[in-house]
Amino acid sequence: MIVVAWPSGAPIDRVRLRRPTITAALITALASPTYAAGANPGEWDQGFAELLHQQARVASVGYRLTTANRGLCDTLQPEAGWVVQDPTEYKPDMRSAAIRFFKMDSGYTVMLVVPDGPAARAGVLAGDAITAIDARPVVEPARAIAQQPASTARIDAFSAAMDAAMARGRTIVSVNRGGKTLDLALVPAIGCASRTDLSLAPGFDSYADGVAATITIDMVRYARDDDELAVVLGHETAHNVHHDHPAAGLRKGRIEAGAVGTRESEIEADYTDLYLMARAGYDYHKAADFWRRFGRDHGLGILASPSHPGWTRRARLAQATASEIDAKQASGAPLVPNLGLFDGIRKAPH
Ligand SMILES: [Zn+2]
Repeated sequence: MIVVAWPSGAPIDRVRLRRPTITAALITALASPTYAAGANPGEWDQGFAELLHQQARVASVGYRLTTANRGLCDTLQPEAGWVVQDPTEYKPDMRSAAIRFFKMDSGYTVMLVVPDGPAARAGVLAGDAITAIDARPVVEPARAIAQQPASTARIDAFSAAMDAAMARGRTIVSVNRGGKTLDLALVPAIGCASRTDLSLAPGFDSYADGVAATITIDMVRYARDDDELAVVLGHETAHNVHHDHPAAGLRKGRIEAGAVGTRESEIEADYTDLYLMARAGYDYHKAADFWRRFGRDHGLGILASPSHPGWTRRARLAQATASEIDAKQASGAPLVPNLGLFDGIRKAPH
C-alpha cells in the first residue's frame, strides 16, 4: 500500500502571523521592471506601484469570491469593497515617501476601490482621506502620526469601527477631497465571513485563519491572471467557509480542532474552491494546470517532482470537479457543492 501524503509545499494554510508592517526592504524587493517611472521617481516608487497593482488584484478577486458566494455561507459579513491604509503601517524611515506616493493624508486614506463595489458606488475615490464614520471623527493630529512607531494598531482599529458601522447597514463615510468635506452614503455588500488580505512576507504562501484568506505578494505575482489568483484565494476562502480553523470554532461533526492542513480538509477546500470560482465567474478549468505548474515550480523537497502523486492527485481532483461543474452548468442544475461531506456549508438553492 502506498500512502500518499498531501503536498506540503504551498499553500499550506499555516496559522497566520500578525500582519507585518511595511519596511523599506519589503518595498525595495517589489520593484518591478515593467514600471515606467516618472521624471523624478522616488526611491521606493516602483515598489509602491507594484504594491498598489497587486493589492488591487487581491481586493477585487476576494470581493467577488466572497460576495458571489454568500448564498453558500452560514456566516456572513458586510463589505465596503475598498482598501484603506494608514501611514503608521509604514516604517518611519519611509513613511513620508509612502504618504507622498499614495497621496495619503495624515490618517486613513483610501488606497483603492474595487470596481462596482459599495465604495465605488458611493462615489469614494482613491486618495480620499476618511475623516468620520457615521459622524464620528476618526482623525488624529498629523504630529501624533509622525511620531508613532510602525504598527497595524491604527488600521485595525479603523477596520473594526468600519465593520461595526456597516453591520448596522448604510454607513455615512465623510471624506476630505481637495479640501472639501463630502458625506458619502455607502451601502455595504454582504459576503461570506472571510476577509482577503495581502501579506508582504517573502515566499510563496497562503493561509486561512478562520477570519481572513491571506496570500503573499510572491504568490499573487505567480498567478498569471485573476483566474489563477482565484484558485489560491478560493482555496483559502473555502477553508474559512468550512470553518476549518480552530479560531472559527470546531467544525460541526469533527472531532479534531483545526482541520486546516489535514488531508481531508485540503481535499474539501480544493473541491469547494472550484465552486466558489465558478459562481464568481472565474475560469475554474484553470485550477488543474495551476496546481500542476505550482507543484513543479514550488513544491518542496521530495514533492518537487512533477510526477509526485500529491500534486498529480490534486490536479486530477480539480479536473474531476471541473467536469462535475460543467455537467451542472449544461443541465442548468444549481452550482452547489455536493453536500453531506460539507457540514460547514448550508444547503442553498442557488
Ligand atoms: Zn488548504
